[in-house]
Amino acid sequence: MERLPQGTKLTTDSGQTLRVIGLLGAGGQGEVYEVDQAGQRYALKWYFAPSRDPKAQLQAQQQRDALKSYLIPRGAPDQRFVWPLDFVEGEPGSGTFGYVMRIWPPGYETFERLVCGRVPTSDRVLATVALGIVDAFRKLHLSGSVYKDINLGGFAFEPNTGDVLVVDNDNVRTNGAPGAILFPGFGAPEVVMGRAPCTTVSDDHSLAVLLFYLFCRGNPMEGARELVNCYDLAATRELFGEKAVFIFDPKDTSNRPVVGVHEAVLRNWPALPRQMQEAFVRAFTEGLHDPSKRLTDGEWVHVVSQFRDSLFECSHCHRETVYAREALKDGAALTCVWCDKPLQVPPRMKIGSAVILLSPEARLFPHHLGETANFSAPIAALVPHPTKKNTWGLKNLSTRAWSYQAGDGRTQDVQPGQACPVRDGQRINFGRAEGEIRA
Ligand SMILES: [Zn+2]
Repeated sequence: MERLPQGTKLTTDSGQTLRVIGLLGAGGQGEVYEVDQAGQRYALKWYFAPSRDPKAQLQAQQQRDALKSYLIPRGAPDQRFVWPLDFVEGEPGSGTFGYVMRIWPPGYETFERLVCGRVPTSDRVLATVALGIVDAFRKLHLSGSVYKDINLGGFAFEPNTGDVLVVDNDNVRTNGAPGAILFPGFGAPEVVMGRAPCTTVSDDHSLAVLLFYLFCRGNPMEGARELVNCYDLAATRELFGEKAVFIFDPKDTSNRPVVGVHEAVLRNWPALPRQMQEAFVRAFTEGLHDPSKRLTDGEWVHVVSQFRDSLFECSHCHRETVYAREALKDGAALTCVWCDKPLQVPPRMKIGSAVILLSPEARLFPHHLGETANFSAPIAALVPHPTKKNTWGLKNLSTRAWSYQAGDGRTQDVQPGQACPVRDGQRINFGRAEGEIRA
């Protein structure tokens, strides 16, 4: 039910006048309205009035305090966070209040719709989304805060670019905040069991759960044992706390996904490359009950970036497939995960220990030249040769010149905006690092 009719005027703590335009959506805690503030459009989250129960009254007061004295004064860790900007008090005695935030740009989709399979996308985009989320968490943690109550409703992404928004930030608190959490499915076992506060390491577990949802479309702890549990408090604490077991735990098979129930994870897990599987196995076995064994943001950046760099299109079925280097080392033939036919691998570039498949969609970033986790703007992209079909060049998108050895042995410069040939044995000096092409 709309509690703020169109045209309602409200005044923010900083003295701005808001005029309600209409309802944008509603959730468990409140509604979100589109509002006008001095000719600009914003969103207003408007909380439901708490019940007269003292616990609900206390929670509402804590939320009000967190907004007014923690979140709004601190400001967003970076521009991906749709952060509370200004506070609005409700009518005296109403118990309601709200906050102003910027409105989502057009084209963004929620993680809920992605997990339900309603947003067509690619692994390249999903890996880009994952890198954006990992980086957003890193910035949040560096600022001294924790996300605390992670859930699918807190994130949105642009399905073509993989750009990320962190859209629900009112549960962000200082590192070490005591933790009653609303979404035990994402909670670290020590928090679910009430044994530890919410910290950056409990966030690290929740981040791994979120990434698992992104790539596998299911909860990593919901397998066979979920079916014998009913969702009361004790059962939930067992499933996600004390007795949590990863559904693909290599040693403990008691919680495997069930055919006909957990179809999405059964389909998506085998298609993940081994390094991604190993990262999740570590996060959800050793790291499950020992927070010091969880993956750091740097480790996630490494494994997800490597995954993105290994993607290319199968020439038979035209689906995105993976260049699995570790399978090559084992002497296995490379076959497409989708159509099982032998893969024709495109040219690839080795920089340090990283191998980047030079497929048309591939990009090089400062990350590849040693600026770990810097994916802010690509420094190189593939471009088709102006006249020769099926011939590609590597275009310099950076601001500094590269060099390479031309066919006649002379050193040739590649100025910004120019491209150099992609051919076997070609070495390119990027200044900070050198790459070698295998074709
Ligand atoms: Zn194929």
